[in-house]
Amino acid sequence: MSDHFRESYVEKALQELNKKWNVEPPVYELHLGKRDDVKDTVIQVNDVIFHIPFLERDALYLLWKCLWPDCHNCCEHQASLPLTKDDIIRISSKLGYERASDFVKEDAIISTREDNSMGGLITTITMVSLKRKDHEDESDTGLPCRCRFLSETGSCSLHPDKPGVCWLYPFASWIQIDKGRPQVHASFQLTGDCPGFYTSRSLESIKEVLENYSKVIFDYNMSMTRTSREGFGASNWVDTKNANL
Ligand code: SF4
Ligand code: SF4
Repeated sequence: MSDHFRESYVEKALQELNKKWNVEPPVYELHLGKRDDVKDTVIQVNDVIFHIPFLERDALYLLWKCLWPDCHNCCEHQASLPLTKDDIIRISSKLGYERASDFVKEDAIISTREDNSMGGLITTITMVSLKRKDHEDESDTGLPCRCRFLSETGSCSLHPDKPGVCWLYPFASWIQIDKGRPQVHASFQLTGDCPGFYTSRSLESIKEVLENYSKVIFDYNMSMTRTSREGFGASNWVDTKNANL
């Protein structure tokens, strides 16, 4: 997704969200990169370092909670579903395949996707991805569409065996070498599709969310690492915000 496409996609997505949900003005501005007073607040919860945006002028944190079952917007606008090796084994069995290789041929595609929805962190992922719609091919990668596993009532027919990446949204995560050791980091993806963002003067209300997600995010990153190591995919991160470019 190019920067220009992303910006116009996010703006349109926010306008759609506003028809049903009340998107607070600071949340809107932050999504569109219109704030120049954003400070990164770093919070370590268990084995994950979370990066929470803080708006200095308003003294507000950007926080999040999931509104499901009232909302299933992320599944309506799913951009891609990269699979770890654990996902491949679990989902192929759920879909009734005897051999995971047949599942990869029939119900998955191998594609490369660049994601720059995290403000300065560019992620490139080449992986086996679950087809989100019939006849999906690589040219659809990164283009949001309604996931075929979403039911009319808003539930996921793969749940609880859905892809690991579905358990993470709207967090994005990556591994960075800190002081010579690998460390898992996570921040919000600001795609404009999630109405769960809100602002607060305190971090109190998100503490339980971070506690629960820290385990999911850590396990997902370990699974991703195993997947890359065993040759089922590759992921790279370029941190343009903190690099001396
Ligand atoms: S779009 Fe956001 S609030 Fe809605 S179900 Fe997905 S994560 Fe939850
Ligand atoms: S697999 Fe399930 S949770 Fe994931 S996008 Fe599709 S419907 Fe949503």
